[in-house]
Amino acid sequence: MTPAEFRARALDLIDLITHYYERTIHTAPVTPPTKPGDIFHALPASAPESPDPFSAVLDDLRSIILPGITHWQAPNFYGYFPSNATFPSVLGDMLSTSLGVHGMLWATSPAATELETRVMDWLAQAVGLPEKFLSTAPHDRRGGGVIQSTASDCTLVAMCAARSRVQRALGHAVPADRLTAYCSQQAHSSVTRAAMIAGIGRDNMRQIPTDDRWRMRPEALREQLARDIADGYTPFFCCATLGTTSTGAFDPVAEIADVLDDVHASSGAAPLDPATPWLHIDAAWAGAALICPELRAFAGGLDRVDSFNFNPHKWLLTTFDCSAFWTADRKSLIEALSITPEYLRNTASDAGAVIDYRDWQVPLGRRFRALKLWFVMRHYGLVAMRDHIRSHVAWTADLAREISSDDRFDLAAHSLALVCFRLRAGDDATRALLEKLNGSGRALMTHTVVPHRGSPAYLIRWAIGSPQTTQAHIRETWQLIRQLAT
Ligand SMILES: *Cc1c(COP(=O)(O)O)cnc(C)c1O
Repeated sequence: MTPAEFRARALDLIDLITHYYERTIHTAPVTPPTKPGDIFHALPASAPESPDPFSAVLDDLRSIILPGITHWQAPNFYGYFPSNATFPSVLGDMLSTSLGVHGMLWATSPAATELETRVMDWLAQAVGLPEKFLSTAPHDRRGGGVIQSTASDCTLVAMCAARSRVQRALGHAVPADRLTAYCSQQAHSSVTRAAMIAGIGRDNMRQIPTDDRWRMRPEALREQLARDIADGYTPFFCCATLGTTSTGAFDPVAEIADVLDDVHASSGAAPLDPATPWLHIDAAWAGAALICPELRAFAGGLDRVDSFNFNPHKWLLTTFDCSAFWTADRKSLIEALSITPEYLRNTASDAGAVIDYRDWQVPLGRRFRALKLWFVMRHYGLVAMRDHIRSHVAWTADLAREISSDDRFDLAAHSLALVCFRLRAGDDATRALLEKLNGSGRALMTHTVVPHRGSPAYLIRWAIGSPQTTQAHIRETWQLIRQLAT
């Protein structure tokens, strides 16, 4: 494909994309009626030997692929969490793909590294993170931000850094099966998966009970830590969640930090000793809300944590993938993940003058993801980014009032732009309501099961957060739910 052909085909594709945004996401059922195997069997069993014209590919895209798409960008997509794909971020991603550079080392594309360091400092300031997370922080261990693919990756690298730090502090290797890690029973499954991948094991990932608002109970953490220390384990890592996936609960970070310090001090070491368990914050979804100063109350205590993560690719206008990770202790991270074969050696790295982001992540190769974040922050500016979050939070508050005022419904949870509710008639009725709603194609919501009023309850999750959604969409969808409930 020559550059001239590329321009022509790209314009065809842009036409298709704009039609998708102008028409399809507003008219097509949010969930396709596809059955398992439909798409697979509609495709030829082997690749073409000779070229297909690009127009034929686009025809198949329209007739086979798009009908099997779940429309995550539809205004009435309220499932899971939002996954904002805005045009500025799409353009940034297109540019990244087109440049085709790898930013694994500073030397493999200096601008890829330095733009990332700069926009991650911008973003840290925009969401009000403590100064120790900035790349410029005058701190002995030095902080800094890096873009990872997903929150799951962030938890894993934080855990690897924690493991490295505890081994260094103790001066000897601890067998992985003697290390214990902590999160709440409501933490995302990726936290336990990180323990499985890092060799800590599922059983050594202690899942601490939660209170009646699904927050980690600091006293239960304290008891579990004491038991583990008495049994000869070395606690090394704790993940607190700000905005749990099921119900948007906020673990009490400052109290958790107190418990970690106390337990550590009573075992004979000083607080802030490098062997204090590493405290990581998973704010994958809710972290975006910190861009609004008036919404920061849930995030007290961040000056006490070692690493922090949220996903701009959820609710902050940036197309997947873009997961923002900061640490205040880059040394432990790099120590955990760095290894330099001869073919990657270069003078800038050897002089220690630059950041090599390959040492901050699991894979070697890395896309130039900072471009899309830079495009987003410059295109919108922080004021409009705050308005995006604020309007969703305000509409959700209105919606929560509506749900509470219909006595057939029980509003079980309301956090930022997430509500979880059920029919008082019970789980079966609630499940049937969700099936009818999703079956209508007019909206998509998902569910969770959590302890509620003393027993496990099936809840419908309504997560608001698409830039396509207006308050009118929310009102219409609520009317639809009321009719279906009737
Ligand atoms: C969505 C979510 C994750 C997983 O995010 P990925 O980026 O897909 O790995 C982790 N934790 C929480 C709290 C989440 O909401």
